Amino acid sequence: MKIGFIGLGIMGKPMAKNLLKAGYELSVYDLNQSAVDEVVASGAKALASAKDVAAASDVIITMLPNSPHVKQAVLGEGGVAEGARPGSILVDMSSISPIVSREVSAELAKKQVVMLDAPVSGGEPKAIDGTLAIMVGGPEEAFAKVEAMLKVMGGSVTLVGEIGSGNITKLANQIMVASNIAGMSEALVLATKANVDPEKVFRAIRGGLAGSTVLDAKAPLVLAGNFKPGFRIDLHIKDLQNVLDTAKSVGTPTPISEAAIGMMKSLSSEGKGSDDHGGLIQWYEKLANIEVRS
Ligand code: NAD
Repeated sequence: MKIGFIGLGIMGKPMAKNLLKAGYELSVYDLNQSAVDEVVASGAKALASAKDVAAASDVIITMLPNSPHVKQAVLGEGGVAEGARPGSILVDMSSISPIVSREVSAELAKKQVVMLDAPVSGGEPKAIDGTLAIMVGGPEEAFAKVEAMLKVMGGSVTLVGEIGSGNITKLANQIMVASNIAGMSEALVLATKANVDPEKVFRAIRGGLAGSTVLDAKAPLVLAGNFKPGFRIDLHIKDLQNVLDTAKSVGTPTPISEAAIGMMKSLSSEGKGSDDHGGLIQWYEKLANIEVRS
């Protein structure tokens, strides 16, 4: 199986390297030449456009920032759609709007190219380890063809439903992560303001019902004042904007996402958009005029 990989950023680079390590033949393309050079040094072949990568591949993977980038790389001039052969499969692993996944899939279907939307959760460390959680939408037959390849990059690979379901699942994930971080922030600022040691609060509650993967990952960083990303606030704003757009299109209420995106946008406008999303606590700290540190 020949694989094309487009988008060699924080996530795409280690994912591509894991495919090379597993023995897959890879051709790659990115606007950023130094990212391309690094993956070529690990054994990939560089091609001049997304179109050329698609023409050389049975399966084309895209790992790009957001919906406009995917539309450009797939449907734009010199894009995947111009080069892809009938019967090939596009696996878009970017976190984008599910509405756009469906639009792009419909365009590709005109060329007999099948699309799966397969966003991931886990961040750079799990991309490096090959243990991402991968949530997939699209036809079962195409999923069966790429499942083993996805398992090289993922610790769990789950087919959720039809095209767009992967990104709907990712939005569900991002709502829960944002609300967990906001809840943790509200709680730790309250405890600190009430003169209770936030580190002891964390230790006391992490084994109970309020314990979570998010709490265990983010509370120690907050207590250390470490907001180095991780997952940037600006990327979480992008995902929550996709939540709001999708919720509007299907008609569901999203008060928690609206509150969280407001806090994140306010931090971003203060120049903190590249902080880790655990840095959301700074919104509470500023209003309460206190810092939560152990
Ligand atoms: P990134 O910005 O580091 O990488 C994106 C890459 O795409 C860059 O190298 C850029 O040059 C390239 N690119 C952009 N437009 C292009 C085009 N038209 N043609 C070719 N290349 C193009 O982003 P990332 O952190 O790797 O994230 C990628 C996706 O994964 C995003 O949707 C993000 O939300 C999602 N994600 C990221 C994380 C994380 O922790 N970083 C975790 C889970 C999911």
